[in-house]
Amino acid sequence: MELRNKFNVGDEAYTVIRKPIQYDCPVCDGTGKFNHNGYNVKCPHCCGTGKLTDKKTLWNVVEEKVTIGSIRVNIHSNNGQSIKYKVYCKNVLYTINSRPESQLFLTIEEAEKFCYDGNNPIKSKTIKDYIADGVPFVINSMNERRETREGSIIFPNGWVASIVKPTNSPKQYTVAIFDYDGYLNLEILRKHFDNNDGVVICNTEDEVCKVLEYIKNL
Ligand SMILES: [Zn+2]
Repeated sequence: MELRNKFNVGDEAYTVIRKPIQYDCPVCDGTGKFNHNGYNVKCPHCCGTGKLTDKKTLWNVVEEKVTIGSIRVNIHSNNGQSIKYKVYCKNVLYTINSRPESQLFLTIEEAEKFCYDGNNPIKSKTIKDYIADGVPFVINSMNERRETREGSIIFPNGWVASIVKPTNSPKQYTVAIFDYDGYLNLEILRKHFDNNDGVVICNTEDEVCKVLEYIKNL
């Protein structure tokens, strides 16, 4: 059995930690005290620290690198591996003594990216989002008015995505592409997506959104 560990004992790596968000006390403006008739009074709101902490936490890169002390691998029945490392860290503020592989990085840039992604989760788009992004209506060359509505999204680039969700199958959608005049185009999607005759069959909304994203960017 091959171990797929990214780090070895003795290696140095960057790691990340979740920290509560700190902000300046609004009562004393972060100074910890305020002036009361000529006297400096300790701010009771923040107990003189000047800082308050939010319950919410954010990922931060730990400045000091950690050193890998030992490796623990759990092998799962499906041949998957989860790797944890015992680490040493010179940082005195936090106890950092073990880390999963996903939280150890060769470069500070990778660690920063992990924090950024973790602190700014991307909400995955839904069909409704694409409908909201669609052009409300167009008048085509045959003087017909076509509107964006559920199941038909008009993109500014000249294409219309048509989404059909058969009522007898809760999971399957089909997506096709038309021009503004209502002509079905079978070439575009057939070339780009696997196993389809020009109309793409999708099992999930996420798959539909992948096709919509593609059409939107044509
Ligand atoms: Zn205060």
